[in-house]
Amino acid sequence: MKDKRTYKDRSEYLIKAVYARRKRVRAMAVEYKGGKCEGCGYHRCLDALEFHHKDPAQKDFSISSKGYTRSWTRVKTELDKCTILCANCHRELHSKLAASSGNARVISGLSQGNPS
Ligand SMILES: [Zn+2]
Ligand SMILES: [Zn+2]
Repeated sequence: MKDKRTYKDRSEYLIKAVYARRKRVRAMAVEYKGGKCEGCGYHRCLDALEFHHKDPAQKDFSISSKGYTRSWTRVKTELDKCTILCANCHRELHSKLAASSGNARVISGLSQGNPS
């Protein structure tokens, strides 16, 4: 039997490894922040929980994009500046922030991370 493992197999393995790590870090982050939405208590789906940065000058923290490449210590430091919210409460909050500041661009501060 020849070894049929190709570069493609390896890259698929790496993608799966990154996905698994990302998922684990995300689960740890959600648990660290109390495991549920601070607005309504929603906790059914991890992927629907997001992190909102309390300082509007800072971008929302996205675990699903670059978050997984950071060390857990750095993730935690960032999480301490964030509120955990479900996708609905998060959209609602940004909408309110935009309305009260009269600045529609606040909405665009929403994290662009793909759900993972
Ligand atoms: Zn909520
Ligand atoms: Zn936000």
